[in-house]
Amino acid sequence: MQRQAAYWKREGVRVGLVPTMGALHEGHMSLIRKARTRAGQSGVVVVSVYVNPLQFDGAKDLNRYPRDLAADKRACRVEGVDLVFAPENLHADDASVVVEENELANHFEGKFRPGHFAGVMTVVAKLFNLVQPEFAVFGEKDFQQSAVVRRMVRDLNLPVKIVMAPTVREADGLALSSRNVQLRDAARERARVLWEAIGVARAAGVTETAGLKRKLKRLIESRTGEVDYVAVVDAESLRPLKRTEKGARLLLAATVGGVRLIDNAEL
Ligand code: AMP
Repeated sequence: MQRQAAYWKREGVRVGLVPTMGALHEGHMSLIRKARTRAGQSGVVVVSVYVNPLQFDGAKDLNRYPRDLAADKRACRVEGVDLVFAPENLHADDASVVVEENELANHFEGKFRPGHFAGVMTVVAKLFNLVQPEFAVFGEKDFQQSAVVRRMVRDLNLPVKIVMAPTVREADGLALSSRNVQLRDAARERARVLWEAIGVARAAGVTETAGLKRKLKRLIESRTGEVDYVAVVDAESLRPLKRTEKGARLLLAATVGGVRLIDNAEL
């Protein structure tokens, strides 16, 4: 991969990277299309497909994660992706260096999934070094992840531009996710509650966040029973806000029918 990247660099080819864990869906496709538009027809789009063991909390979740490389390659071919980078393993058995962010990553997903963001950042840094892209496209679906990656790029001066793409949703509002295939019928129906909560928050207008958070928590709990967090934060610093002012972002995480789901939206 690095030899290929060096060749592209010598030839002055613009390279865009879309990092994924595979089981590609329309959300990933929107990132790939965005990469193509930005890279242009003379540039190249690389899609990495790697279920990164470092970012999973347990072996069970890792083993359960959906995989279908043949289908992923077909989908990439349809979109005109130039290269699918799907390594077997990216980590030496005795690897002893990790990339860690120590502020944004301590809350929300990082709190409920200890070590998750260090795993994400380490693999993203490695992918940047392997593919050496001019830019990389990330989805707003994983809002905290994109904030943490932007912070890594800033604080380590990585020469990669981070491009964001909006969340792609099902007709009923559920954010597309590779994990959605794990939702059984009744749970799939109930999973809609996250989008409902976003609607309620938006309809509330500018308001105190404490009352709003309680209301949203009760709404989600009435369908799932298991809320990890409901937070209203500043979109850049991820600091909790007292009022839903301009730039506020709602972050949600809940388990529905045994499947952990996250969502977020600008308020
Ligand atoms: P994943 O394969 O789940 O690790 O996701 C790879 C990339 O796709 C990440 O940047 C995600 O934020 C993005 N992504 C996942 N689901 C969606 C979606 N529904 N809409 C937009 N981007 C998404």
